[in-house]
Amino acid sequence: MTAHSSSSPGAGPEPATGGSPRLRAALDGLPAYVPGRAGAATGRTFKLSSNENPYPPLPGVLETAVAAAGALNRYPDLASSALIAELSEYLSVPADHLAVGTGSVGVAQQLVQATAGPGDEVIYAWRSFEAYPIVVQISGARSVRVPLTADEEHDLPAMAEAITDRTRLIFLCSPNNPTGPALRRDALLAFLDRVPSDVLVVLDEAYREFIRDPEVPDGVEVYRDRPNVCVLRTFSKAYGLAGLRVGYAVAHPPVAAALRKTAVPFGVSQIAQDTAIASLRAREALLERVESLVAERSRVAEALRAQGWTVADSQANFVWLRLGEATADFAARCEARGVTVRPFAGEGVRVTVAEPEANDLVLAVAEEFLAERS
Ligand SMILES: *Cc1c(COP(=O)(O)O)cnc(C)c1O
Repeated sequence: MTAHSSSSPGAGPEPATGGSPRLRAALDGLPAYVPGRAGAATGRTFKLSSNENPYPPLPGVLETAVAAAGALNRYPDLASSALIAELSEYLSVPADHLAVGTGSVGVAQQLVQATAGPGDEVIYAWRSFEAYPIVVQISGARSVRVPLTADEEHDLPAMAEAITDRTRLIFLCSPNNPTGPALRRDALLAFLDRVPSDVLVVLDEAYREFIRDPEVPDGVEVYRDRPNVCVLRTFSKAYGLAGLRVGYAVAHPPVAAALRKTAVPFGVSQIAQDTAIASLRAREALLERVESLVAERSRVAEALRAQGWTVADSQANFVWLRLGEATADFAARCEARGVTVRPFAGEGVRVTVAEPEANDLVLAVAEEFLAERS
């Protein structure tokens, strides 16, 4: 671009020709979020690649969504007041400790925006949720990835060692996507005691409703006396509203207020707000579905172990097979049987637990796969 010409006052810089707009270097080489593939168009197929709830919305919940669609000409309630009030009662937390967003991924991005920029560091386990590196890189901060243990769990002592005076935020994914284990009480509290009070710890509990291990604490109890802990929850998994994009944070007022400041105005639609409320009110029926998925999770994990697989203890709605170099081959075999799973190249395959019929197909592929290799 040329300098402002003094012979044409007020004309502004000469327009550049050719090139394209200058974009932030932080976007260079940004990893793409890989959505779980949809199944092939022909025959009976099962999508076990995105940890979605396999069951469609309950009738009453769907009616609420359809009714809200009748007011699509209007902007939604900016403050999501009715949903916040419902959550406040359900969780027994003050309304000013809550913030909703466009899925918990949206809230996670806001938390990074609110705390970290160039020169700052964000710590998380790896492999973990694939959105973390993306939102950190966009912010201009640096990712500090701490490898999982051999048991596919967060290495909390190593994560504590990784804290520096540049650390601004730490993501803890419990249960960990894609490997499954959740953080137990003693280890989590010991870790939190080592984190400086000015570093935000984000406990991502996207799969909270699937946890059955009594040693795993409820994040909402953990955050209460810890001002630097924020809990993320979502309606996308157990509540089956992945397509509506609504999640929330439970945090102390300064953090919750920062989330209101960084929110895209009107990001959460009225359909999402109303349907989330209807889902909370229908939770007895929804949690029965979760119970059946948890039973299937146990059945699948035990069957895999009986076949000879090593399967980490999953407290979520998926199981993880560390296949290494055989990852792509295994995923292709599942695909050939009408089941789409989520491969992580060279590492392993994450398989969502779904309807028994779909789970049985995966078990059949897994058994054949081992038989051919022995
Ligand atoms: C699925 C998932 C989410 C939820 O994402 P939404 O944006 O709420 O749909 C958040 N964290 C983890 C670890 C997940 O697996």
